[in-house]
Amino acid sequence: MNAADSPSPASGHDHQASMEGLSARMRGLTTGMNVDNQHNAVVPPIYLSTNYGFEGLDGRPPIDYSRGGNPTRDQLGRALATLEGGAGGTITSSGMSAIALLIDAVVPVGGHVIAPHDCYGGTWRLLDTWAGTGRLTVDWVDETDLPSLQTALTAFEGQEVRTSLVWIETPSNPLLRITDIAAVSRLAHARGAVVAADNTFCSPLLQRPLEFGADHVISSDTKFINGHSDVVGGSVVSATAESAEQIRYLANVIGVTASPFDSWLTLRGLRTLDARLRVHAENTERIVELLTSHPAVNAVHWPGLPDHPGRRLARKQQDGPGSLLSFELDGGIDAVRRFLDGLRGFTLAESLGGVESLVCHPFTMTHAAMSERAKADAGVTESMVRMSVGIEPAGDLLACLHEALERV
Ligand SMILES: *Cc1c(COP(=O)(O)O)cnc(C)c1O
Repeated sequence: MNAADSPSPASGHDHQASMEGLSARMRGLTTGMNVDNQHNAVVPPIYLSTNYGFEGLDGRPPIDYSRGGNPTRDQLGRALATLEGGAGGTITSSGMSAIALLIDAVVPVGGHVIAPHDCYGGTWRLLDTWAGTGRLTVDWVDETDLPSLQTALTAFEGQEVRTSLVWIETPSNPLLRITDIAAVSRLAHARGAVVAADNTFCSPLLQRPLEFGADHVISSDTKFINGHSDVVGGSVVSATAESAEQIRYLANVIGVTASPFDSWLTLRGLRTLDARLRVHAENTERIVELLTSHPAVNAVHWPGLPDHPGRRLARKQQDGPGSLLSFELDGGIDAVRRFLDGLRGFTLAESLGGVESLVCHPFTMTHAAMSERAKADAGVTESMVRMSVGIEPAGDLLACLHEALERV
């Protein structure tokens, strides 16, 4: 049973009953609407209270203390579980705390993890730090190459150690490489490993990794889910009720759950995710058209392009190519400087997935901590610019880009 089908402890009448037969998308995006039975508030009220009264010694309320449970945060958890097609969701203080929580829940001390060689820098740093303290061991693998994954999975044949977790991140950053979620899940499960996918770049409206066999989905809700660049947050959604409960339990034990206010803002942002993604997609198509036809641009990396190596796979497991892309300018770092110097309409900043258009220079910004060698392996060059296309009027974005490209 889907978690969103069970009435919230905080809801008076059951909104979900009246949503029967409607799509998961509809039910997820409207979770918590029209459930207030005190005032018939259309938008769910926010519960800031840290504690909830007992009805006598035998009357523990469903929610007693906000670290473990909070009506507002639980609504967001149900919304995301519904959208991902999972059994339950836990909302955390950041994407990184969601990732740390999941790893801690499924990897025993000394356990082995396989992660993509070009995964998010924060994930890389967490696994590298925990490998340094002896908490776990990690192998970095190009997961778009299934034979290398198979080799890593069978490395411990006949030994007591085995791989506990295979981490997937697709599309990757900043080259938008696509990993086959179904194939990786099959190989990992055949060896008894748990599979978790970082779905930050797509959001559940463009990709639902649980449908392709992943056991858990984690997300930095800081990005598309909230979408307004004003909350840092994360989530873990699990395929089974049992693992969802295990994650929820551990989140309370460690204390990484999100604040009610952040949860409320994120739920507010989530309402428009479907509409935002449509404009993101429209704008991205037009920007890609400009970039691929401009002589100052040497290469464009976007899974919607016919020559992108992951195009077929993206069509299979994604409902759209997304609004993140990277491109390489003719003329190296100097060309990048000329492009950025005076660029209007786009902010030079890290992060992604907000309503505002951003550019970043992975070589000196998001991927600066990587060694020259690691950058070369991951394909991060000095002439590369990454773009998160926003939802501003397309004509203006195109005009600003054109202006900047003419300077290159
Ligand atoms: C931003 C990001 C994270 C980390 O999330 P925070 O909310 O910043 O902690 C993890 N994975 C990916 C792919 C990200 O883009």
